[in-house]
Amino acid sequence: MAQFTLVTGAGGFIGGQLVRDLLANGVSVRAVDKKPYADWYFRSPDAENVVADLQLVEACDRVTQGVANVYNLAADMGGMGFIESNKALCMLSVLINTHMLMAAHKHGVDRFFYSSSACVYPGYKQTDADVVALKESDAYPADAEDGYGWEKLFGERLCRHFREDFGIKTRVARYHNVYGPFGTWDGGREKAPAAVSRKVAMAVLARKHEIEIWGDGEQTRSFMYIDDCLIGTQKLLHSDIVEPLNIGSDEMVTINQLVDIVEDVAGIKLKRNYKLDAPKGVRGRNSDNALIKATLGWAPSISLRTGMEQTYRWIYDQAKARDEGRPYIAAAA
Ligand code: NAD
Repeated sequence: MAQFTLVTGAGGFIGGQLVRDLLANGVSVRAVDKKPYADWYFRSPDAENVVADLQLVEACDRVTQGVANVYNLAADMGGMGFIESNKALCMLSVLINTHMLMAAHKHGVDRFFYSSSACVYPGYKQTDADVVALKESDAYPADAEDGYGWEKLFGERLCRHFREDFGIKTRVARYHNVYGPFGTWDGGREKAPAAVSRKVAMAVLARKHEIEIWGDGEQTRSFMYIDDCLIGTQKLLHSDIVEPLNIGSDEMVTINQLVDIVEDVAGIKLKRNYKLDAPKGVRGRNSDNALIKATLGWAPSISLRTGMEQTYRWIYDQAKARDEGRPYIAAAA
């Protein structure tokens, strides 16, 4: 009798907090990640916690037994600094989604969530800082982010065909930049909100009033707070929406405006040094939320200011603990 909800990538940022939410709602959770359990960002002892490499078909087969619903969040990923220089590693996540779908089919899983990304959207739609927000139909003709984005696009299509041919209720979210506490904040895989928070926190701690910014700071993005991501993810899994759906904020800011917000939260002003040759990604990106509003009757709404207050405080505490030799959440290798 299928009883578990399976969360893969449960040692990571989104997965760890999804496990916590599901348990709070009385769901029986099996949580899986390849990292040693001690290194999981958020540990929930009430889940059945399993360490396994889900690139391997045998591991997927084992953890999917007795499972009714899957949230497949496991992937080798990071911010621009990571994905631009680790394209082969990013592409290899195709093994996780492929083997997870095969196992889900074999064991009669009912619903299967796949975390795709705004990185599937074509570069030619994102050349302007003043970008037109990306709607779901913009993904084709395809020109996804090299490596990571193409893997996600393939993953989306695999989900589609497992749904059409085998009847698994696959649901696909295109997440736009998720941020918040209990995420990667150092080590090279962190994304802009965490990187900026860490740099500001370290400037405060070191009393060194300078910050390095990648690019000219005028590139635009939208950032979704983790609490919105968790709500949207669970709503989508239980919905009837079969096509990929944006789950992202439509509050677009420049990176300079993001730095303004964090400086304001920290109560500091820093001299900005622009590193123009650093990885920058596309020039502009924003989420068009018309479809999610029309279909789910909901859209992310937590303001960047509110989310960054929580995020900055958590990262400041981590950085301070590290400075003082106390325990803190370390970045993934
Ligand atoms: P994360 O890196 O914090 O978590 C991913 C987890 O997957 C890690 O703990 C990692 O150890 C695990 N993992 C990787 N390979 C594995 C394997 N072979 N077997 C088992 N576990 C493995 O990332 P996140 O921010 O929590 O992202 C979750 C998902 O959402 C990913 O699929 C990611 O591509 C997608 N996504 C995230 C964002 C974002 O802004 N965070 C944006 C778009 C898409």
